[in-house]
Amino acid sequence: MDLFGIQKMNISAGSGRTMRVFIVHAHPEPNSFNGGLTRAAQGALSAAGHEVVISDLYAMGFNPVSDRRNFTTVGDANYYRQQAEEANAAAQGGFAPDIQAEMDKLFWCDVLILQFPLWWFGLPAILKGWVDRVFASGGRIYGGGKWYDRGVFAGKRAMCSVTIGGPPPIYSSRGLNGPIDAILFPINHGMLYFVGFTVIEPFLVHAPARISDGERQMWLDRYRERVLSLVHAPTITYPKLADFDDNHVLKLA
Ligand SMILES: Cc1cc2nc3c(=O)[nH]c(=O)nc-3n(C[C@H](O)[C@H](O)[C@H](O)COP(=O)(O)OP(=O)(O)OC[C@H]3O[C@@H](n4cnc5c(N)ncnc54)[C@H](O)[C@@H]3O)c2cc1C
Repeated sequence: MDLFGIQKMNISAGSGRTMRVFIVHAHPEPNSFNGGLTRAAQGALSAAGHEVVISDLYAMGFNPVSDRRNFTTVGDANYYRQQAEEANAAAQGGFAPDIQAEMDKLFWCDVLILQFPLWWFGLPAILKGWVDRVFASGGRIYGGGKWYDRGVFAGKRAMCSVTIGGPPPIYSSRGLNGPIDAILFPINHGMLYFVGFTVIEPFLVHAPARISDGERQMWLDRYRERVLSLVHAPTITYPKLADFDDNHVLKLA
């Protein structure tokens, strides 16, 4: 058992009535507000009888560097093409154990949560590396016509839970940093929807270091409410593949 009290996962567990939630947690400080959010989620979900699995990437020492260490197989020893090696590994069961374990959690879950602080308008590198390595091509996670609403994870939900240094106005439509929806688009659309997830509206906490402790407790309570309603939480509506023409350009209405 570690920081989040994570027990060894039983992949075959799950009654079908409970929700299976997989949280990928990316923060180097266990006592951070991100840590508080993940503990709040785990506590609320577990108390309600749901199953929770957490990949605490820093605690795991997860290697975010994508290279030949992703595989136990070798397709082309002379020239490394990651997507070709992924297709080869998918066909031969050749993913490295650390990647295979994360893939198993993705297939196990009903809902995926990415928990992270906004760093340089994006994911912390350790989490970006998790996506680079785990979201593998060759039909395992995407490819071969499996993308967007025809993606491997169609029918599952995913949500970003994000802390942001700046306050809401600077991330508004006329704000200096630009709208937060646009900043999160590469993650929500380019990663989560790309592999088939239905994307839940993100849970955002602005400036957690600058608000009062009472406000932080309020956000933790709101997050407990959000994770207990993941099945019904509002989602982002993206166009479907059928809405695009042969050049992948939206058809005119
Ligand atoms: C490399 C880097 C790049 C960044 N890029 C951006 C950027 O592009 N845009 C931007 O807006 N910001 C940016 N930031 C800021 C960053 O997003 C924030 O610092 C981060 O989101 C704050 O979250 P935290 O979990 O680290 O907060 P913390 O600083 O860990 O916590 C905030 C406060 O909450 C308290 N706390 C912790 N747990 C609890 C609890 N359970 N209950 C009550 N209080 C608690 C802590 O004691 C602390 O006082 C960047 C920061 C870094 C390091």
